[in-house]
Parts: sequence; C-alpha cells; structure tokens
Amino acid sequence: MGCALDEELIDKARDFHGHWCPGLAIGIRAGEWVRQNLGTSADEEIVAVVETDACGVDAIQVLTGCTFGKGNLIYSDQGKQAYSFYRRGDGKSARLVLDNQKLGGGPDDQIAALFQKSAQGTISAEEQQVLNDFKEGWAKTIMEAELDDVFVIKQAGPMPKKARIMKSIVCAECGEATMETRTRNMHGQTFCQACFAQRESRM
Ligand SMILES: [Zn+2]
Ligand SMILES: [Zn+2]
Repeated sequence: MGCALDEELIDKARDFHGHWCPGLAIGIRAGEWVRQNLGTSADEEIVAVVETDACGVDAIQVLTGCTFGKGNLIYSDQGKQAYSFYRRGDGKSARLVLDNQKLGGGPDDQIAALFQKSAQGTISAEEQQVLNDFKEGWAKTIMEAELDDVFVIKQAGPMPKKARIMKSIVCAECGEATMETRTRNMHGQTFCQACFAQRESRM
C-alpha cells in the first residue's frame, strides 16, 4: 500500500526539489490525493492555496501543475502544513491538513532542537546522524502510510478569484513599472512600495 504514484513521477518531484526529505514526501502525498480526486491542471484548471512555503510545495507544483508562474498556486503564509485544492470546472475542493498524530508522532522536541542546530550550523556529527536517521524514517512513514492517515481532509475556504492582469504604473522615484494595486500615493505622486517606504523613513 502507501504511495501509489509512479516511481517516475516521484523521481521528477525529487529532481525538481533537489533532495529527498520528509517535507517533499508530504507534498508528494498531497499531489497524489489531487491526482486521484481532482485530476491535474493539464486536463482541468486546478488551483492550490498552500499555507507553508516549505519543501512540500515543490512536489505539489510538479504533481498538480499548479505553479507560481501560472498564478494557480497561491501562498497564504499561515505556517501550517495545510494545502487547499480547487477544481474550477465544478467547484470541487478540499483542504488537506497534515496529521502527525495519525502518523504516530512526527518530530519531537529533541528532533526540533536538532533541526534548529542544523540550520544554525552548530550541529555535531553524531547529532547530524540522529537527525538524518529521523528524516529518513519519517519520510518513509509518510510515503508508506495510507493517504487517510497522512491528512485530515477538511472543507476548503472560498475559491480564490482568477488572477487578473492589473494595470501598471511607473513609480515616480525609481521609474520601475509597478502593478497598480501595489503602489502608494504621497503628495499627488505615485510610488512603488520600496520607494514609498524610503521616503517615509526620511520624513
Ligand atoms: Zn526538502
Ligand atoms: Zn520605486
């Protein structure tokens, strides 16, 4: 049982991401759910809203066809391992939330501390080995679990509106064309956000 995706697709996701890790495995399983339940953006327009910008999002892009560049991958910074998917055709949607408990635990405090040390570059060789072993085992657990045991399926929020091409305005300071909705006004002039912030700090 476990992940039913073709090995080829899993390899594609790993190659795109650059390494194998538990986060990627989470995204692979989310992508598997989408392919089974909604199809992919190659056949129909699928929209994804991801509440994290971590590793798993790379697998979601490869497996679902939802990408930042196409505008059908939306990042909502909530710091959660949660992913919502929508099929525009019939409005079918779901929000997948990772459930560590159903998977038997996930990273404990000791492992969390090792992740931090690793990021800070203060991890010892033995500690790195403990962390690597955990990552390998955790990724395996995620890949071998039933999909029902990886995510809790909840109701997704409202479907995001279609991306529109916004008018651009040239910033009065740097001269760079800027999407109208991202500009700010000061004394009758229009600035990009960076130039507006600079002017404001000088006042
Ligand atoms: Zn990763
Ligand atoms: Zn500017």
